[in-house]
Parts: sequence; C-alpha cells; structure tokens
Amino acid sequence: MPTCSKRAPLFDLKKVRRDFPMLGKVFHGHPFVYLDTAATSQKPDCVINAICHFYREEYSTVHRAIYPTAEWATERYSQVRKKIMHLIHAKQAEEIIFTRGTTESINLFAQTWAKTHIAPGDEIIISEMEHHANIVPWHLVCAERRAVLKIIPISDDGELDFNTFESLLNDKTKIVSVCHVANTTGTINPIKKLINAAHQVGAIVCVDGAQAISKIPVDVEELDVDFYAFSGHKLYGPTGIGVLYGKEHLLHTLPPFLGGGDMIETVTLEKTTFQHPPLRFEAGTPPIAQVVGLGAAIDYVEDIGIKKIRAWDEELMQYAMKELAKIDRVRIYSRAKAKVGIISFTLEGVHPFDLGTFLGLKGIAIRTGHLCAQPLLNRFGIRALARLSFGLYNVHEDVDRLIHMLKEAILLIKSPRG
Ligand code: PMP
Repeated sequence: MPTCSKRAPLFDLKKVRRDFPMLGKVFHGHPFVYLDTAATSQKPDCVINAICHFYREEYSTVHRAIYPTAEWATERYSQVRKKIMHLIHAKQAEEIIFTRGTTESINLFAQTWAKTHIAPGDEIIISEMEHHANIVPWHLVCAERRAVLKIIPISDDGELDFNTFESLLNDKTKIVSVCHVANTTGTINPIKKLINAAHQVGAIVCVDGAQAISKIPVDVEELDVDFYAFSGHKLYGPTGIGVLYGKEHLLHTLPPFLGGGDMIETVTLEKTTFQHPPLRFEAGTPPIAQVVGLGAAIDYVEDIGIKKIRAWDEELMQYAMKELAKIDRVRIYSRAKAKVGIISFTLEGVHPFDLGTFLGLKGIAIRTGHLCAQPLLNRFGIRALARLSFGLYNVHEDVDRLIHMLKEAILLIKSPRG
C-alpha cells in the first residue's frame, strides 16, 4: 500500500464529493474514479439545477424582447458577464466576449486580428506544447495571410525554452499565442515574463487559459495580457460556453467574426453597421442557459476559493507523482518544476489504448491517445500517452486505486503494439 504522508484539503471535500452526482456512479461493479478533468470537469448539482431552474421558470431570449421573462433573462445573462469580469480581474464587462469555448475564442481572435493586422511576412509565435486549438487557427491564418509561424521549443522536462523565445522575437512578430498551462504535461508557463518580452517588440499576446482557469488565480490586468481564452466546461460549468477576454481598446479595432442578429446596429439591404464590443462578436441567439450555468459554476468555485483548490491540486499531484515513480515501468512526461495536477505517462509494454480500455472496465476514467497535442508527442518521440488529471473533487484513494490497477495491468496485458 502507498505510504506517503497525506494532507487534507482546506475545504469540505466530503460535501464537495456529494455535490457531484456523477461521482456516486458505479460502472462494471466498480465505483467511478474520474481522472479526466483536464478533458472536461464533472458538474455540481448547483450548476445542473441552475440550468434546469432557468429553463423551467425563467426562460426567454435575451436583448430582443421587453416582456418580463426576457428582461430577467437579459439581466441574468449580463450578471454573468460581470462575474467573469471579477473572476479574471478585467476592467470592464465589455471586455468579456461569450463564445462556444476556448477553440472558438482563439479562432475568433485569430481570424479577426489577422484580417486587420497581419500582412505577408509577419510572424506569429506559438510553442511546441500547444493544444491543436492553439495551432490549427494559426496554420489557417498563416496560409491566408502568407504569415510565418515560429515555434518556441520545449525541453525534455516539458518547459518552454525562454532564451529561444527571446531570440525569435523581432519587429515582424505580430502575435504570440501560448498556453498558460499545457494540457499534456501540466506545465505552468511563465506567461507574465513572456508577455513582457513580447510587448517589448510590440507584439500582441493571446493566452490559452483552458487548463489554467480552474486551477490558478488569473488576473488579466496584472498579467497585462491582451487576449485570454477559456472554456466553461473545464470550470465545472456546462459545455457550449466559453470566454474570450480582450483589452477594450484592442477589441474596438477588430471587425466582426460572424454576421447575423444581435451584433448589428443597423441593417439596410445595402449595408450593415455593427454594435460595439462585446456584442459585435456575439452573432445570433447566444447560449443563454449555458451562460446561466457558467455563472453558477463560478459562484461554486469562488465559494470554495481558487487558492484552496490550487493547494489541493498540488497535494494530489505530488502524491500521484511519488506513487507513479514507484512503478519502474511507468515513464512520466510531466516533469516541469511548475505544474498543475495533470500527469502524462506511458507504461512500458502496455499500449495506452489497452491501458485506457482496461482501466475503463475497472471504473477508472483516464485520457489516452495524442491528447490533441500531436506536435508535443512528436517532440517526445511517441504516438500515444496516458493522462490522469485532477479536479477539486479527487481524493488520495483515486490515486491509490489507479496505482493498484496499473500494477494489475502490468500483470495482465501484453500489448501486441508494444
Ligand atoms: N486549449 C487547451 C490547453 C485545452 O486543454 C483545450 C481542451 N482540451 C482546448 C484548448 C480546447 O478547449 P475546447 O475544446 O473547450 O474548445
């Protein structure tokens, strides 16, 4: 049995676990052990109930109507924009754009900025540890605008090579787009330092905060970041809702992303004039219930406190690292000094897909495959990984159960794929 000293969280973990109905499930006769929060978090009752309540009691469209339920819905919708403003320390609610998720947020920024600010020969910098959501939009932009994509390499430990990053910066650098926290290795990047360096050459910085928002306090003003993207479903909220933060004066320079209702000021058959940000970027009936759900999720997280969540994540991460290191056939790829509770690994002799299938049958959910980060896997010379990741509801026993089953897997599986 594992023997490390274990610390308790600074919040009521028993209550938290009761708040998440999925955690009480039993699969194939095994209690559900959810270790895939980096893919998407489970949802507490308060989020599920807020969405149900809204649909049952208050539902209407927003902005367009003046009857009471539409006014309530509009009020609820606008309140959540303010909650997000407070959560990430934006200066104004108008700097918060609702999107469908991080992917759409980055595409929105990439497409609109490229149209107005990127010329042939301009340079865009990303890193080798990005999720495909922060690579593919830049491939599209570079192909359309004949811009050049430059890559910050990473070390064997999964850390950004800051010296090379500095050497890539020059007066042609127009955008630097990097993740705050890497979805594969859990590396926390020194983004304040990156932002300062990028600003020295006049570049605009977009940060992919998909993995950071639920784990570390984010202060966009203190970071002086230009654009910051994240998804609601990784913050214990519903799917279908995300955020793009943008500095107000920069948003005003951008053209619309999609055209349609809600984002217009006037329309004639000849031409359209557009709303100011953020509505300029929110065409069509928005995901109103998802916004309401995200508001409930933010209340939930803030009631517990992001610093306490971070401390618990650190405890579980350290514990899992120690326990995994005791299995000599485990190779860990998450080795950065600063990281969150996301650990990628392989098990010698067992293909990650076989491992994932085996664990699934034992009630344990981990992620396997390329984790939407093929360039990072290429960097490490591998084609698939296994990844465990924690949410605020995980416990030491989840790690113990995983370790136990990894040992069983070693005994039972001999993968023909190696
Ligand atoms: N960036 C990172 C770092 C991610 O982990 C993810 C989700 N796995 C995304 C972007 C994309 O998020 P979404 O699928 O919610 O748009």
